[in-house]
Amino acid sequence: MKILSVNAGSSSLKFTLIEMPAQEEIASGLFEKIGLDDSFYTIKYNGEKIRNDVALPDHATAVKELMNELIALNIISSFEEIEGVGHRLVHGGPDFKETVVLNDEVIAKLEENIDLAPLHNPGSITGMKAFMEVLPEVVQTVVFDTAFHSTMKETEYLYPVPYEWYEKYKVRKYGFHGTSHRFINKTISEYFERNDLKVISCHIGNGGSVTAINSGKVVDTSMGFTPLAGIMMGTRSGDVDASILEYMNKQTGASISELTNDLNKKSGLLGVSGVSSDSRDVEVAADEGNERAILAQEIYAQKIANYIAMYNNLLNGADVICLTAGVGENSKTMRKMIIDRINSLGVKIDEEKNDFRGEFRCISTDGSRIPVYVVPTNEELMIAIDTMELAKKN
Ligand code: AMP
Repeated sequence: MKILSVNAGSSSLKFTLIEMPAQEEIASGLFEKIGLDDSFYTIKYNGEKIRNDVALPDHATAVKELMNELIALNIISSFEEIEGVGHRLVHGGPDFKETVVLNDEVIAKLEENIDLAPLHNPGSITGMKAFMEVLPEVVQTVVFDTAFHSTMKETEYLYPVPYEWYEKYKVRKYGFHGTSHRFINKTISEYFERNDLKVISCHIGNGGSVTAINSGKVVDTSMGFTPLAGIMMGTRSGDVDASILEYMNKQTGASISELTNDLNKKSGLLGVSGVSSDSRDVEVAADEGNERAILAQEIYAQKIANYIAMYNNLLNGADVICLTAGVGENSKTMRKMIIDRINSLGVKIDEEKNDFRGEFRCISTDGSRIPVYVVPTNEELMIAIDTMELAKKN
């Protein structure tokens, strides 16, 4: 059965078409600048990349273009061959604890909670409505980045702030990257053939989060009410003292939303290094002796190491540490810098084993008290797996 895994933004629509249950990626692509003058799409299929500059006034047009292109490329012969569409949604709010089948009621509930993710959710909801319009008979699902974290207890998800912030305004930790952390937990649990593992999953890409998982359930995670919290990221600060906002507002006159934007878009690796948010560029600059690039790498590694140590304590001893996403899968330098900062836990990196990128592999020494694995993530596949299961039931 063919399943589409979709990630829509306000002006973009990313898709991966996956053959299930074989888990084979058939095609993928991106529709960009939807609603703008210079819209276009690219599709990767059979080792080739097609680009088409075409008017995409709205998401529904993009979906129709996509379906027609799949037919033109002989990937499908009719729309009915798509047996499921899974939509990624960043923020499910407090109500959604697992993947659900999409319907009007779900859309209404999502729209109620739009204030929780005003930058991300509206674009995704527009994408969902477009697919419902073009493929009304197909089972569609919503896979929430927050859902995997819904097992956290109040002791972890409540902020020590006035209680009515939580009761009246839903202020609490939600956590993100849940689909990736769930995929990592599933992969490593299958590898060890155990369902009672205590896992510290580190998703380190442009965004980043660390999650403590016990027997398949999230105990705590580093992102918070929004994806700004936790470890240092490409352009996000991670945890900072909230008073900085008022202080900087008084110093510079910048508004709270301008300053929040700085914390989201101008901080992290970019802010400290002044070079780039891309860890490859920072690595090159650091190798050339750029002191702020070196400092950025050191802070970055230390914040991740601190969360690993904290979660090892919370889990009363982890069974395995997993590193994933762009940096975790590809950067042997950052991996070494992180692991070297948790030597007190008896964790040691094997530099020979660490000399690779982009595959499943153990990178710790045989004597390491906690083994460390690189586990490539695949959020699109996790979305397709959920969608296949719900499509079978519906
Ligand atoms: P993601 O958000 O998971 O796509 O990850 C993006 C991050 O991964 C960027 O900071 C990239 O610099 C980093 N990355 C990707 N490939 C490499 C690589 N070969 N070496 C170091 N960092 C990499």
